[in-house]
Amino acid sequence: MKDTYRHQGMRNKLAEIVEAKGISDQRILRAIKKIPRHLFMDSSFEDHAYQDKAFPIAASQTISQPYTVAFQTELLEIKKGDKILEIGTGSGYQTAILLELGAVVYTIERQKELFKKTNLFLPKLGYKPKKMIFGDGYKGLKAEAPFDGIIVTAGAPFVPKPLMAQLKVGGKLVIPVGNEIQTMTLFTRKSNKEFEKKELGEFRFVPLLEDRN
Ligand code: SAH
Repeated sequence: MKDTYRHQGMRNKLAEIVEAKGISDQRILRAIKKIPRHLFMDSSFEDHAYQDKAFPIAASQTISQPYTVAFQTELLEIKKGDKILEIGTGSGYQTAILLELGAVVYTIERQKELFKKTNLFLPKLGYKPKKMIFGDGYKGLKAEAPFDGIIVTAGAPFVPKPLMAQLKVGGKLVIPVGNEIQTMTLFTRKSNKEFEKKELGEFRFVPLLEDRN
């Protein structure tokens, strides 16, 4: 598949739509204009790539809606060089946005098929996470903790304790919490023991699955 002027035009429109919905961080809008989202989906769905919608990818998973990706990313308030842990690599689109903002990204995926596919695909586009891990995001990534930010891109029935524990003081955890419908929740670590919690509206994600293997 190729990236063309037509795709570029559609991306510019998509960025306008996302901006109109309330995203103001220009770095994120620039990343949306730059990243060829159609290449993160199967070629037959190319025309859907630049609508502001979630879409099925491999293994019954979805590529998140661009607005949702932008919303979660904005909450992280990323500075260049920040160490960010992503739970749910999926297509790698969110990963690419984080990398465009200059984050050092660690990303975890539990679906073998998706993990393999995205592990090969992202570097081909020039996107190089610090580590891509096949594993269970409920545990976080203790060996690399603490993180400036943790972003969960699947609906979590509860907030996994290890993710809170792996935040730096001042760090942020963005996580959609709930079963059928999730409440976007932002935790900021104020001190070793204190977390500030904000709830920021309802979203719908595929579930964060517990490893039964
Ligand atoms: N950021 C992705 C969103 C993919 S959907 C994108 O924009 O494409 C959520 C992803 O979380 C799926 O790929 C799913 O397999 C993965 N996932 C679900 N439970 C998980 C877990 N416990 N650990 C890691 N990844 C998980």
